[in-house]
Amino acid sequence: MELILASNNEKKLKELRNILTEMGHTVLSQREAGLDFAAEETGDTFLENARIKARAVVDATGRAAIADDSGIMVEALGGAPGVHSAYYGGEACKTDADRVRYMLSKMAGEDNRRAYFVSTIVCMFPDGTSIEAEGRLEGELLRAPRGEGGFGYDPIFFVPEIGLSFAEMEPERKNRLSHRGRALQAFREKWESRGDL
Ligand code: IMP
Repeated sequence: MELILASNNEKKLKELRNILTEMGHTVLSQREAGLDFAAEETGDTFLENARIKARAVVDATGRAAIADDSGIMVEALGGAPGVHSAYYGGEACKTDADRVRYMLSKMAGEDNRRAYFVSTIVCMFPDGTSIEAEGRLEGELLRAPRGEGGFGYDPIFFVPEIGLSFAEMEPERKNRLSHRGRALQAFREKWESRGDL
């Protein structure tokens, strides 16, 4: 099925596109669909924000859209930055590298490094129905960045079972085990069990 990806984040788009294409879908970016806007993420939860993003594209095009809202929850920071992951550190942090530095400064001297990523996927259809799915992955925050790949907090997110940070993994490997990969797998199972698509 043709799906419009409700995101302007090029790197996230690439990950979602790879996995969805493997599932047999044809994926268009917002730009390819002629859309030039970013829906305001005013929700308090990943699910609310993913719904807002997907609905904005369905309303603008009358076509099916898929959105991911995601973030990292750090135990020692009381679950922050969570839904605020994309703009953690406020105006002072303009790039992913700035936000990684900011998080490391917040975590200086902290021994509890437990953290997990969450991805919530909402695929919304023009008839108003939707499929929603979530994926999580637990890991540990490193004390310094490692690796060049990925985006966001990948250089400081270490996956103990693999012995690598997300940024050190080949993209396919990250996609197979990541929160986003897991959310999309759950999405796929729900999609297949609907049977009417
Ligand atoms: P949003 O879903 O576009 O609101 O932003 C999610 C934010 O969470 C991103 O900008 C990243 O900072 C962070 N994030 C989400 N998924 C990942 C990931 O797979 N790796 C690293 N950072 C991520």
